[in-house]
Amino acid sequence: MENKAKSMREHSSGKVIDIQHAQCSKGCNLICDDVKIGGLKSIKLKIKFLDKEGLIYIDPEFGSYNHKTDLEIPAGQLVEFYCPECGVSLIDKEETCKTCSSPMFCLDIPNEGVVTACTKKDCFDHTLKIESFDNMQIEVDDFLVRMIL
Ligand SMILES: [Zn+2]
Ligand SMILES: [Zn+2]
Repeated sequence: MENKAKSMREHSSGKVIDIQHAQCSKGCNLICDDVKIGGLKSIKLKIKFLDKEGLIYIDPEFGSYNHKTDLEIPAGQLVEFYCPECGVSLIDKEETCKTCSSPMFCLDIPNEGVVTACTKKDCFDHTLKIESFDNMQIEVDDFLVRMIL
């Protein structure tokens, strides 16, 4: 975690991608005006695990790992992600995490591509990445990716 954060900063002169929208597969807006993290609008998602259900607000600045949620998610827990508006599952059945083989969830970024991340607590923030429509693949290890909302 420490090393990861350090290497992120060292790459802070790398490419920055501005993302202004995030949607579910049905087109609902997932950007949340009410909850800000680090001064930026967060990405609001519905989560479920075991018998619990709630909301999570994801920091739009990749690599800072400041997610907000009322739920206590146990380490190693797999979490299901849903659109908070229409309830559609955000799990991408085609993808599995290259680190831990868990399912991945994905968000649509109109005109840019998709954001995918692992559904396992303590893993998903490390695997967050953008796949752009022009096949450019940006891993958080290589670039600081910041969503300007
Ligand atoms: Zn939706
Ligand atoms: Zn994983």
